[in-house]
Amino acid sequence: MSFSITILGCSSSIPTNDRNPSGQIINYHDKLYLIDCAEGTQLQLRRYVGRIQRLHAVFISHLHGDHFFGLVGLVSTLHLLGRNKVLHIYGPQGLEEIIRLQLSYTHTELIYELIFHLTNPEVSELIFDEGELQVTTIPLDHRIPTHGFLFREKPGLRKIKKEIVLSEKIPYSEYENLKLGADYITADGTVIPNSSLTVSPPIPRSYAYCSDTRYTESIIPLIKDVDILYHEATFLKELSEQATLKYHSTAEQAAQIALLSGAKKLIIGHYSARYDDLNPLLEEAKSIFPETELAQDGLTMTVRKKLVTE
Ligand SMILES: [Zn+2]
Ligand SMILES: [Zn+2]
Repeated sequence: MSFSITILGCSSSIPTNDRNPSGQIINYHDKLYLIDCAEGTQLQLRRYVGRIQRLHAVFISHLHGDHFFGLVGLVSTLHLLGRNKVLHIYGPQGLEEIIRLQLSYTHTELIYELIFHLTNPEVSELIFDEGELQVTTIPLDHRIPTHGFLFREKPGLRKIKKEIVLSEKIPYSEYENLKLGADYITADGTVIPNSSLTVSPPIPRSYAYCSDTRYTESIIPLIKDVDILYHEATFLKELSEQATLKYHSTAEQAAQIALLSGAKKLIIGHYSARYDDLNPLLEEAKSIFPETELAQDGLTMTVRKKLVTE
């Protein structure tokens, strides 16, 4: 079961020669989920992912242009390419109005259905629950209402040890209970513990996208022990006053959040266009949280399955 993230843009509000503003693709079991959609995102999608009709849902973190100015263009391209599947879009107040107004004034009558789901950036809420995947919002501290997104697998069922279950002659009708963790009691009253009949499922995987935000420890309980944390790092710490004033974070602050939340890995991005060389941002973050990597346009990371050792 694949679970990967591709960075489509890692610049802050102004694009540079090799950095587009925000956009990321989550590929989960071959379905594509887009997070943020800056101007140019559809080109990046074409360049780094392809097959954009596999786009299943779109999640917009807030209504600054560097996070959604590409959305109407993408919606229009899907229409021109003949999409016939519904597209679900999750985002804050105003997003639906803006997109529908653009479609209306351009006399674009879509041949597929757009369904908007209004989010509330004030609270953390479960906004998507389909198959094995759930998405929860992460309220952030930014100049306008903003949230991030936590993509997390649901815990799987325990796996049956076939040979043992067969040799104990356990009826098939009991298998579901065993998968849920129940012990088995034989006809003569002997208890066979579940742990000898099943093995634990893999640990659920997770990815947190923390979009534009000031340093805020309020997000830590929401992203506890996440496998990969993306956190914005617009500035170096020498500009921390500016970061606070503009409601952004420094690389050091992103690393501090990764450390306190117990993340396995940190990806920083949303760099100010003033930085040509990103290594000072990387070094600053690594001095606090060594497992840090720089987001770069086109970078793909896989969230790997981990088995429980018993
Ligand atoms: Zn931004
Ligand atoms: Zn912003």
